[in-house]
Amino acid sequence: MSSWRDQPVGGYTAADAGKRVTLAGWVDTRRDHGGLVFIDLRDFSGKIQLVVNPEHAAEAAELTKEIRNEFVLQAEGEIVRRAAEAVNPNIPTGEIEVQVDTLSIVSRSTPLPFQVGDDVDDVLRLRYRWLDMRGDRMQRNLRLNHTIIAGIRRAMDDMHFVDVWTPSMTKGTPEGARDFLVPVRLQPGTFYALAQSPQLFKQLCMVGGLDRYYQIATCWRDEDLRADRQFEFRQLDLEMSFVDRDDVLDVMETAVVAAFEACGREAPPRPFPRLGYAEAMARYGTDKPDFRFGMEIEDATELTRNSEFGVFKNAPTVRYIVAPQAFSRAELGRLEEVAKEWGAKGLAYLVNDGGEIRSPIAKFLSEHELGQLQPEPGHTTLFAADEEAMVSRVLGGLRLHLGRELGLMETGAELFHWIVDFPLFERDEDTGQWTFLHHPFTAPAPGHEGFEADPGAALGQHYDLIWNGWELGSGSIRVHDAELQTAVFRVMGLDEAEQEAKFGFLLDALKMGAPPHGGFAMGIDRFVARMAGEPDLRQVVAFPKIASGGDPLTGGPTPMPDSVLKDLGIRSIVDPDQA
Ligand code: ASP
Repeated sequence: MSSWRDQPVGGYTAADAGKRVTLAGWVDTRRDHGGLVFIDLRDFSGKIQLVVNPEHAAEAAELTKEIRNEFVLQAEGEIVRRAAEAVNPNIPTGEIEVQVDTLSIVSRSTPLPFQVGDDVDDVLRLRYRWLDMRGDRMQRNLRLNHTIIAGIRRAMDDMHFVDVWTPSMTKGTPEGARDFLVPVRLQPGTFYALAQSPQLFKQLCMVGGLDRYYQIATCWRDEDLRADRQFEFRQLDLEMSFVDRDDVLDVMETAVVAAFEACGREAPPRPFPRLGYAEAMARYGTDKPDFRFGMEIEDATELTRNSEFGVFKNAPTVRYIVAPQAFSRAELGRLEEVAKEWGAKGLAYLVNDGGEIRSPIAKFLSEHELGQLQPEPGHTTLFAADEEAMVSRVLGGLRLHLGRELGLMETGAELFHWIVDFPLFERDEDTGQWTFLHHPFTAPAPGHEGFEADPGAALGQHYDLIWNGWELGSGSIRVHDAELQTAVFRVMGLDEAEQEAKFGFLLDALKMGAPPHGGFAMGIDRFVARMAGEPDLRQVVAFPKIASGGDPLTGGPTPMPDSVLKDLGIRSIVDPDQA
């Protein structure tokens, strides 16, 4: 018990009536009823009503004249039952109040930019985050964050994972984003990168015989900020030796279930279903499908091979989805815009409006084609005809759009899935060069070790965890053989000298007794945002950045004086005021 208070204010109940207590907290509201003054005193645990009666406590009553919202007070008095008509059944302390004897102002507050709990602009909330944090929303979310991480840590400990701290400043790990750079004063002109993930260090821990590593790791990636993206974020990062894919998935499922249980929520059933990448792309048009509704993509390529409708006949792939609504012309126009945003040139459709087919293309389709493709009454068939990747993108985008628009996503369902059997390589859209799909340390699937002959055909041992259409994280079984690792780098166009310069240390380690190993990383902040039912990471991260990359609270980032830059061996070529 401190001298400031006996306990947080929200824990008192009618059972405490008659006790003398010392309380401390913030002024939530102050109401002067001409004589009696009522103050709601708040802390993280709730509120309690103070009553200051000038006849009983003249000095305290005088002081209440100065008191404003968010002042910090200390009060002493007796807990008494409220009169029946004054009971507030909505709060735990609603049956009682504190008859104040003495009162002191511990801290004052300037006039507030907003009242705690008010629904104000996010930037204003972040500018005064300390005030925002006093409200229910941030209190709930930051505590949920803690509960989830504590649950995960317990589970990792139970599974004998060892928490190892890895460096933030490193040589750059290829996770596909831009690096944040740190100039190194002791070696002017050189830079560390802030780790995009602990990927290579955790692999080295496996070569080091650690067996099971984990970390709630901070990662830095210089990407445009979005609702689900911050410059810095945390991952549940893990790595295991002598394991197959299923061992890693099993550990991750245990961690996810532990997080649900820690929050007192019903855990998703295990094992989480698995779906191959190719099948996910064909049926849902994306590698992160939302399984909460159907509307799966169907194929009509063969059916329309000799169609009179030239667009279908000439397209390498023709596929469609059937939406449970007979769309109007205006609605179809809007859907066409959505399809175009995803890259379509147009949107062919068949609407069945109570038995009558509305469609500009129906007249080109044979009876056989129509028989297969026309939807039931009250439904619309929407087509995409193009290269397979484009068809997937367009129909995947339309499916998701319609799922949202038509309210098809069964709310309340928490569906976790694994996507497995990803290709090992893909073509870089800009350079045409083969590049990795996950990262270059992912092992080929058994039987696909000869990938150099046909990189596009090779499957990798990479897996993603999806929650209701959100990618929560990725992992893979790694290459643990230096020769094979070199072959991956070769496919990516790295010659021996570049391999040595960038990844020499990894190749050295793989040559000195590297055990088979694999791992995973799950975005913790994303996970917490989902658990909290929040639309973006700013609601669950204590001090986030905003879309401009700025930090409204501290005013960062700021330019640095030339003298500082000079010490670091760098010179700025932009004037931040002009940039
Ligand atoms: N390092 C990877 C990532 O951050 C995860 C992994 O492969 O374990 O996505």
